[in-house]
Amino acid sequence: MLAYRHGFHAGNHADVLKHLVLIELLDALRRKDKPFCVIDTHAGDGVYALDAPESAKLAEHAGGIGRLWEARGLHPAVDVYLDAVAVHNPAGALRRYPGSPLLVAERLRPGDRLVAAEAHGTAYEHLSECLGRRRGVQLRAGDGYASLKALLPPSERRGLVLIDPSYETAGEYERLNAALRMIHQRFRQGMVAVWYPLVPRKPAAPWLASVRELGIPDVLVAELRVEPPGADFGLYGSGMLLINPPWGLEATLREALPRVAECMAGSQGEVSIRVLVDERGGLPAATD
Ligand code: SAM
Repeated sequence: MLAYRHGFHAGNHADVLKHLVLIELLDALRRKDKPFCVIDTHAGDGVYALDAPESAKLAEHAGGIGRLWEARGLHPAVDVYLDAVAVHNPAGALRRYPGSPLLVAERLRPGDRLVAAEAHGTAYEHLSECLGRRRGVQLRAGDGYASLKALLPPSERRGLVLIDPSYETAGEYERLNAALRMIHQRFRQGMVAVWYPLVPRKPAAPWLASVRELGIPDVLVAELRVEPPGADFGLYGSGMLLINPPWGLEATLREALPRVAECMAGSQGEVSIRVLVDERGGLPAATD
């Protein structure tokens, strides 16, 4: 039984990192005049009202998008991300926050596709309301990992698999690694982006070490922290694991993310960007 509702966390520092990177990946796909397919295995609701009781309760967006909202000009990649959020806030005040499937749907060109899966009943209802009638969008109720086999490789032979789990069930990292193995077997050239939490009770390092053992080349990780790892603090940061990152992304993130971290967290903000596996499958010395 899934209990996680993304509405409690929409627009927080983790969403900022995830969605800024996602938009960079989509824009890289759009640079070529060939159709692409995005598979979003854990789609969530599609869009979030930041003044709804669940968002307002924790007001996590205040420390994330809320801090960046007025900070135009930090970096072109940040401005592109802010523009994507601004589409949903035409009056200027920050009221609505777009989730990953909506951000993707808005970047589809004629011929591009999005397949988005969501397992939580209420979240799926919201997702259907948000995106059910969009051209190029196919929604699937149920387990996003399970739908992968039938979807890979996509007929377009180019695209992105976004995996953004809620990490609420036992064995999540094992299922994640099984999915990464399958994607590598069936869609080797595809981009993959996995969001992962940085929390004191479950360090990410053992999972990252296990990814290095999967035999998948060209893996980059980008982490953004807003607090030092403390015993009593929950989500002190998060990371994006990227397989086949597009050319230029690493350099963009090296420039943009420290400015984002500083804006959201001042001197507590920290960024770490490192190659986990190089393009030839070589394993640079682990730094974490
Ligand atoms: N990707 C969304 C975004 O960026 O806007 C947020 C997704 S939220 C972190 C994770 C979502 O995955 C939740 O809505 C949860 O109900 C859903 N979920 C959990 N396990 C799932 C599974 N096995 N398959 C599909 N969805 C799942």
